[in-house]
This record gives sequence, structure tokens and C-alpha cells, in this order.
Amino acid sequence: MSDKIPIKVIPTDASGRKKIPEKVTIKPSHDTDVGIYPARSQIYVRAVKGTLETFRRLFGFIFLGIFALIPWLQYNNQQAILFDIPEQRFNLFAITLWPQDLTVLAYIFIVGAFALFFITTFAGRVWCGFMCPQTTWTYMYIWIEEKIEGSANKRMKLDQRKMDADKFIRKALKHTAWVAVALLTSLTFVGYFTPIDELFIDFFTFQTSFWISFWVLFFTFCTYGNAGWMREIMCIHMCPYARFQSAMFDKDTFTVAYDARRGEGRGPRSRKTTPEQREEKGLGDCIDCNLCVQVCPTGIDIRNGLQYECINCGACVDACNGVMDKMGYDKGLISFTSEHELNGGTTKIFRPKLIGYAVVLCVMVGLLGLDFALRKPLEVDIIRDRNSLYRETNEGLIENVYTLKVLNKSQTEQTYRIEVRGLVEAVFIGDQEVTVAGGEVFSLPISVATDAYNLEQAVTEISFYVSTVQNDGTLVEIEEPSKFLYR
Ligand code: SF4
Ligand code: SF4
Repeated sequence: MSDKIPIKVIPTDASGRKKIPEKVTIKPSHDTDVGIYPARSQIYVRAVKGTLETFRRLFGFIFLGIFALIPWLQYNNQQAILFDIPEQRFNLFAITLWPQDLTVLAYIFIVGAFALFFITTFAGRVWCGFMCPQTTWTYMYIWIEEKIEGSANKRMKLDQRKMDADKFIRKALKHTAWVAVALLTSLTFVGYFTPIDELFIDFFTFQTSFWISFWVLFFTFCTYGNAGWMREIMCIHMCPYARFQSAMFDKDTFTVAYDARRGEGRGPRSRKTTPEQREEKGLGDCIDCNLCVQVCPTGIDIRNGLQYECINCGACVDACNGVMDKMGYDKGLISFTSEHELNGGTTKIFRPKLIGYAVVLCVMVGLLGLDFALRKPLEVDIIRDRNSLYRETNEGLIENVYTLKVLNKSQTEQTYRIEVRGLVEAVFIGDQEVTVAGGEVFSLPISVATDAYNLEQAVTEISFYVSTVQNDGTLVEIEEPSKFLYR
């Protein structure tokens, strides 16, 4: 039984010359007893240039910029987007969502889920490759690693080297930079749940509460661990999306694939090899340079067909296109394509499953929009006094007692007028006007009375009408039904 770690050396590059590999997969020896869980192979991802990489970087910058800026936006002198969990309210610019507005949150989640289903059916796991925070942060961490420790080949050699001053400084610098990025990420993320300006000041002056400090350190640890150490393990072994994506794939889904009909038989050759010589040797377009494997963040070989580990990042597409360019072959040996296209057919864009997802998505977006449009910044709750059905006043009137709860769901103070409807000659005992601060609930005890002659039955259907005119002149009104009891 050997404890040695074998190193797989890839002997040729795109030009066919021998060179030191940029990526080496380190695996335990086959005859080592690894049990049912083999040790993880260290992946040294090689940097790649190309259209998709440029697009991902641009997209990553935009995404990071939005993520970092949103909690700093102000609206009505308060944080524009704030998920205030202790206060049980979510501020979304002019809208404040309360626990009662769970339907809105449910619609948002359903819209998100169907958007993901639609995109996955159409273009495979592009979410994973271009938008998922795990991928974005992993690429950012690899970029930092490369700036400090060098290319994939240098990183591999550095890891194999014994500890010396240079290695220690590089490792220390890298981990410090990773922790700094993780801390900033965590502070920004926690800033979505607590006022971010206070958070930054309090955290760096050691004044945050225990729980805030706990969450900041927890998310720092998660970011550092996931993007620095776990990387592809998250995508391959922990992300549930990787597992159920295949249920959404069909033969027309665009996904990264290798054109085996064009690429095989693979094999190295000189750039000067003529088409006749290739034909003689049975060579396809793949020169077996392994670049597509070296740039893959999950360490797979796309030439083995569609694999659940593939996150559709397109790095192998860029790498292979570069090789094809150098060799003078057509690009697209690895490309975003469909199974139908690979088999010589054409991709059917409009297909029942995709149309179905699109229809449900549109309906849910419509319902979400409607929910927002019809949403009233006011909620009223009437609770009847349960201790007595009714009582007689000194003036001989029949009186019912209620507690009116007025929830001002707007962000500014409002004055509400209260009326009772449906009762003849009703006498309102209590305040008919209340002023409630933005986001507050006001409980108002009120009594309603009338002469017994006006009551023809034991139960009279009545309603409480609450209205206000908002700062922008909009009338907001709610009529809440209740009962007036007698006998
Ligand atoms: S598919 Fe392209 S990048 Fe991969 S080994 Fe073949 S030629 Fe090289
Ligand atoms: S196979 Fe290609 S697209 Fe898939 S994860 Fe690897 S590099 Fe990205």
C-alpha cells in the first residue's frame, strides 16, 4: 500500500510542445484504502481569457456593485431596503411589508423559482456559472490567489514546497485578503437586516450586540470557507439545485457540450499537420491539450459528456476556442449547444415545457404586480368585547364595546377618521380621529350605542369605516364588517 500522491503530468500544450502542466489533480493512490468517501482532489484552476470570461467578469462586477450599494440607499430618511426582523417588517423603498403580507413574499419566491425553471430549461445551469454567489465569490478568491501566489502551475509548486519565508508571506497575504473580503461581504449582507451605517461604525468600534457580532463572524466564516476552501464541493455535493436540474433539461436545452463527432479521435499534432495527414491518422479537431480540463473550476472533463458537476460557466468554451484559433480550426468544438444540435438537428426554442414555464412565470409576475397595486398601506382589525354581549347606558341606549386596531403600513405618520355604518342613529363613544406613526399599530377602545327601537333583530350587521388622505392626496379607506348584538 503506497502513501505517495501521484501527480498526473500533461505533456503537451496547444502548440504541441512539452510543458509543465498548469493544473495537476492530486489523488490518493488507487491502492490506498479510502473507504466510501475518497479524498478530495486539489484543483488548481488555470486562468482563461475569452468572451464568456469577459462577460462573467462584467456581470460579476455589476452583481457585486448592486449587492454592495443596495443597503446604502436611502428613501424617506431611512434605509431603502431593510429586512428588519426584530421589528417584523421589510422596507422596500416606499413599501413596507409586514407579516400579514406573506402572500407578497410567497409570490416573490414563486416568481424566482419559475424564473429559475425557465432559465434552466432554456440555457441549463447558467445561473450557476454566471450569477450564483458561490461562483462569483469563488472566482474572486481565485483571482486574489493568482495575484498573490501566481499562475496555477506556480500555486501547485508553492503548495508542494516546504514552508519558507516567501511561502509564509504569500500564504499569510492571501488568507488576510480572503478574510478581509469575507468580512466586507458579511458586513454588507448583515447590513440588509440592520441599519448598515450604524453596523459599520459599531462593528469597528466593538459596540455591536452579541447577536449582531455573532452573525457577522458567522457569515465571514461561511464566505471564507465556501469561496476559499470548499469551492466546487458546494456545487457538487451540497447544492440541491445540481441534483434536480436534470429534471428540467430536455434535448433542446442549451448547455456546454463537446462535439464528439467533430473532435474525435483526439490526439496531439503540429499546427502544420495537413488535413490529409489528419485523415490518414484518423484525427478529429481535439488536439487533446487538456486545457478545457485545466480551466474547469469543478475539475471535470467535458469531453466525457454532460455531467452534473458542470456548472455551465463556459470556461472550457473560452479555452477551447483559443486553441481552435491557434490551430486555425473553426471555433465551437466545445460550445453552448443542445443535444439535438449535436446530433445534427436544430434546436426547438418554442416547446411545450418552456412555454408552460413562461406562462406560469407571466401569471405569477402579474399576480405579484396586482398584489402590489391593490395593496393598501392600512390594516384594520375589530375585536368585540367578549365579556358582555351588550349593556344599557344611563340614557337607556344599547351599547356594544369594541377594540379597534389600526396598523399604519405606510412609512409616514397618518391621521385616520373612523365612522360606524349600518346602525340607525348610532352614537359613537370614543375618539373618531387617531394619529398613528408610520409602521405602528394603534389600539383604540370604542363604544357604539343606539336606541333599542332601532334594533329589529338580535344581531345587526354593521361596519367600521376607516379612512385617511395620504400626503400625495390619495384616499386610503377600509371598511371592516362587525356585528352589533342585542338580546
Ligand atoms: S476539447 Fe479543446 S481544449 Fe479540450 S483538449 Fe480538445 S482541443 Fe484541447
Ligand atoms: S465543464 Fe466547462 S462549463 Fe462545465 S464547469 Fe467545467 S469549465 Fe465550466
